[in-house]
Amino acid sequence: MARRKKIYEGKAKILYEGPEPGTFVQYFKDDATAFNAEKKATIDGKGVLNNRLSEFFMKGLTQIGIPNHFLKRLNMREQLIRQVEIIPLEVIVRNFAAGSMSTRLGLSEGTALPRPIVEFCLKDDKLGDPLVSEEHIIAFGWASQQDLDDMVALALRVNDFMSGVMLAVGIKLVDFKIEIGRVWDNDFQRLIVADEISPDSCRLWDVETGQKLDKDVFRRDLGSLTDAYTEVARRLGVLPSNVTHATKPTLIN
Ligand code: UDP
Repeated sequence: MARRKKIYEGKAKILYEGPEPGTFVQYFKDDATAFNAEKKATIDGKGVLNNRLSEFFMKGLTQIGIPNHFLKRLNMREQLIRQVEIIPLEVIVRNFAAGSMSTRLGLSEGTALPRPIVEFCLKDDKLGDPLVSEEHIIAFGWASQQDLDDMVALALRVNDFMSGVMLAVGIKLVDFKIEIGRVWDNDFQRLIVADEISPDSCRLWDVETGQKLDKDVFRRDLGSLTDAYTEVARRLGVLPSNVTHATKPTLIN
């Protein structure tokens, strides 16, 4: 079989050229990194879970009319996506204080925010993805004012969708990050949700116990990351309920 052309390799995913122009194949690795890649590990089954979970969330977005890059899942670790031009910003939405916002503003983790807050960070590993203001974004030309308005609107719609879906299975959406890309339909540019939506890029807390079910389990050494992600997938019905561990073989009687 001819080798596929690799377009880009990131920390948790690889992008390959797709079968048709305007498409890519997105491959989910088992690699986990935190603290700007200072902490690294390979976590058996994480890629498989994130491939399924991102598919689940993106399909849900499509069903309520929120445009995104997902086209079709190809296999356990790969999905076909629309090629986009990624805007070099991480768009973060927060419902409760946690992580860098808690540190920056001295708010204890879990403090409810008066309303969802959208933040932008510049995607630049060398600089540690610094927080930037809308002024910076316009002045340096990373996005236009129209793009910014569209990005905020998209991010808040994704927040409403994700908050509802998670609450229905007893999980609180504390915050999340999305990436947004440009696509062209003839002469018209549109912005769509790209990259991934998975427990790697969200903070998810059990409503009753506060148990963390996201990448903080890895960042803060709180136990098995695959168990946490499997629990999210199980509650959402993405995995059959009798699967307790993504990589463990099950006996069939
Ligand atoms: N996040 C992410 N990728 C990043 C930075 C943040 O997916 O490079 C997600 C993170 O998982 C959390 C949200 O964005 O759900 C807010 O992260 P925060 O700014 O608190 O940074 P952190 O504490 O994760 O460094």
